Amino acid sequence: MSEFDIPHHHTVGVGAGPANLSLAALFEAVAPHRLVLLERRPAASWHPQLLLSGVRMQTSWLKDLVSLVDPTHRLSFVNYMVSTGRIYALINAQFNVIPRREYQRYLAWASEQLDGIRYGVQVDEISYGEDVGFSYVSDGRTIARSDHLVLGLGSVPYVPPGLSGIQGDDAFVPEELAARLPAMDRAAPVSVVGGGQTGAECVMELLGAGFTDITWLGRRPWFQPMDDSPPANDFYRPAYVQFLQQVTRETRRRLVEGQTLTGDAITPGILQAIYQANYDGMLRLDRYPLTMRPGRDVTLAERDGDGFVLSATSATGHEKVAARYVVFATGRAFAPPPLAPALTELIDHDDAGQMIVDSDYSLRWKNADRNKIFVQNRARFTHGVADANLTLLPVRAATIINSLFEREVYTVRDAEPSVVWG
Ligand SMILES: Cc1cc2nc3c(=O)[nH]c(=O)nc-3n(C[C@H](O)[C@H](O)[C@H](O)COP(=O)(O)OP(=O)(O)OC[C@H]3O[C@@H](n4cnc5c(N)ncnc54)[C@H](O)[C@@H]3O)c2cc1C
Repeated sequence: MSEFDIPHHHTVGVGAGPANLSLAALFEAVAPHRLVLLERRPAASWHPQLLLSGVRMQTSWLKDLVSLVDPTHRLSFVNYMVSTGRIYALINAQFNVIPRREYQRYLAWASEQLDGIRYGVQVDEISYGEDVGFSYVSDGRTIARSDHLVLGLGSVPYVPPGLSGIQGDDAFVPEELAARLPAMDRAAPVSVVGGGQTGAECVMELLGAGFTDITWLGRRPWFQPMDDSPPANDFYRPAYVQFLQQVTRETRRRLVEGQTLTGDAITPGILQAIYQANYDGMLRLDRYPLTMRPGRDVTLAERDGDGFVLSATSATGHEKVAARYVVFATGRAFAPPPLAPALTELIDHDDAGQMIVDSDYSLRWKNADRNKIFVQNRARFTHGVADANLTLLPVRAATIINSLFEREVYTVRDAEPSVVWG
């Protein structure tokens, strides 16, 4: 590709997960063909390796890519269901929350109808020049340029340093469980480390697959369910995001840290399913196939013969747990932004080394008045717990679009909330 053939776009989004798909859907309605998404996966998919048996969404289907700001948009979830002919079947199945597989299919259906998604493009580096804007390097070549950039990179599995040393065929992250399951010995001891939703889903998968010696270790004092109550859901409203913008950074961080269990916790339905499967297993085996060890901070994982030993601290001191297999459901970290060092230097960072995100999700940086950089799903401590999940996707996308086009293209309505925050 010669210099003259490199396409120049108004805006490039890196990543085509739900965050940037929502942006693309709303963009299309106001500025068709001006946004391109670059996605490293070969085709549309959403956490495909974590689609374990029977997994459910944690959020309502009303929280789709578009409806909260544009319910007449053709890419609404309801339109998807009607067009597949499954709407009546879905209603009659009376799900509290829909299967994750259905949401993934919805995303794939929406992606098919959006122009400008380029799959199989791993963006290795994004650089900047005042004369050309942002340049995207993939596989050693500059493949696109743009005036503006939206990072929608999502997250990657995280294993703490003390545990990561044993990773391999028999000690792995949840993304590998489905592939490794067929070769695993059902009678051998298996430990799942991590007391969140993904840990719970792995435990359920192992119980369902007939494992008879499972240990589940979690750091929290008990395997805590998600608070999905009405007051907890008030944190997932535009009014609350706006309120957070008015308080100091320190206060924001303190408030947001206290809200973790409203999103980053286990759905009550799967906890009930685990307890029931464990009870059924006990009736079969005369002992429980699953032992739960909450309040354990697993600090070290070491090899021991054919298996492993996990060292944990607990309320009563230290303990060791032997395992033939270990699943590390130990959380997720931001996917690293592929920004060239020279561009990173132009971006303002806070004392903790995090990029500073403004109220419109833009980054503060040297040339922000000409070329904007937005980040999706990276502003938990400025925009609240909703930023890390799907609940306010279209609201965030609308805010970005309004900022990019410097007018109120979309109106975000959250009228007269009954809670007065401050
Ligand atoms: C298993 C699971 C289930 C979840 N369920 C829910 C739920 O029910 N409700 C809820 O509110 N939240 C849920 N979440 C949390 C969150 O909403 C999701 O992680 C969501 O996918 C975030 O969307 P995203 O677009 O920001 O990131 P992602 O969906 O992770 O998408 C990011 C995309 O960017 C691509 N990418 C990254 N780096 C590059 C690069 N350098 N070049 C090109 N492409 C790149 C990736 O391949 C990926 O496709 C869940 C999370 C997980 C892990």
